[in-house]
Amino acid sequence: MEKIRIAFFDAKDYDRNSFVKAGEDREFEISYFETRLTEATVRLAEGHDAVCVFVNDDINPAVIDALVEMNVKLVALRCAGYNNVDVKYAYKKIHIVRVPAYSPYAVAEHAMALLLTSIRRIHKAYIRTKDFNFSLNGLTGFDLHGKTVGVVGTGKIGRIFIDICRGFGMNVIAYDKFPAEGSGITYVTLEELWAQSDIISFHCPLTDENYHMVDADSIRQMKKGVVLINTSRGALIDAEALVEGIKQRKVGAACLDVYEEESNVFFHDYSNHIVDDDTLARLISMPNVIVTSHQAFLTEEALTNIADTTLANVAEFFAKAYSKNEVCYKCPEVATCKQQHETKCF
Ligand code: NAD
Repeated sequence: MEKIRIAFFDAKDYDRNSFVKAGEDREFEISYFETRLTEATVRLAEGHDAVCVFVNDDINPAVIDALVEMNVKLVALRCAGYNNVDVKYAYKKIHIVRVPAYSPYAVAEHAMALLLTSIRRIHKAYIRTKDFNFSLNGLTGFDLHGKTVGVVGTGKIGRIFIDICRGFGMNVIAYDKFPAEGSGITYVTLEELWAQSDIISFHCPLTDENYHMVDADSIRQMKKGVVLINTSRGALIDAEALVEGIKQRKVGAACLDVYEEESNVFFHDYSNHIVDDDTLARLISMPNVIVTSHQAFLTEEALTNIADTTLANVAEFFAKAYSKNEVCYKCPEVATCKQQHETKCF
């Protein structure tokens, strides 16, 4: 049987290890490329049946046209979010599959890890004690118990984060465009969430509609000292407005696993370089900002699930009439989503 040829972009050692473990040599022939998929690199996909991509690959109309011209049939996202794919343009040209859930626990637990690190100043204490500085000055935190956390997006990750917060004795309120009825979650409007929350955590996808949902105007509506946690997608937050909000002492702390201009920076070692992005450099310089580089998903369990599901998606796509993890621009409109009917999206 001829193997399915996959061009794998933005490949890291941990990706390769997990795909080898998942049995990549079974029915697939994978070419690993360290570079991201962009207009400049798309020709590397020549001779492949599918491309496998991650969060910062750019599947824009020019890339889609080139893939179609090279007879590449499938874009296999090894992530859940698909804001980096022009799904509307791809419709009827090339199919898109994704990994809808690989470990929502990994992301929710990372959000809580960031929050605890930030408010208990663990990042500061770690550096101090490494230098035998045992002073406690400036390390005063606050209790989470009794605080109000506003959760934006109550899907798989948001709900696990809510459960974790309830375990800490926090008061949870939430906003979701599609509230889950009967879930026992207290839903409020976004305006109420901004006004009432001591901590706000984002767990919704990035769409045209919620781009920069945190901007100067929403920050103005928030409580003084609010802690923002973003493990979702960078562009939910206007980074320059965030810098201003912190400088004005309105935002008390920010925990960022994602950043709107992350694609050229995150996942790379720039420790010997001058970073060009002044906004990112300013954020990192602030004592109350913690940045991790899109790391929330990175657990053994998640990597195993990503590799298993991605290879299963590719095999299923080429073998069957439907792909249960296919997405198209119509999928968010449940009424017209063909995934419900077990056929391909087109
Ligand atoms: P999910 O689809 O299970 O849940 C998303 C929720 O957001 C749904 O309840 C949906 O109704 C809601 N929603 C949609 N549009 C909204 C809007 N405009 N405002 C408010 N809510 C809205 O997704 P999930 O698995 O919980 O993942 C959430 C997000 O986390 C993903 O979209 C992705 O961007 C991000 N993510 C990040 C990492 C990481 O490593 N940092 C890893 C995985 C996922």
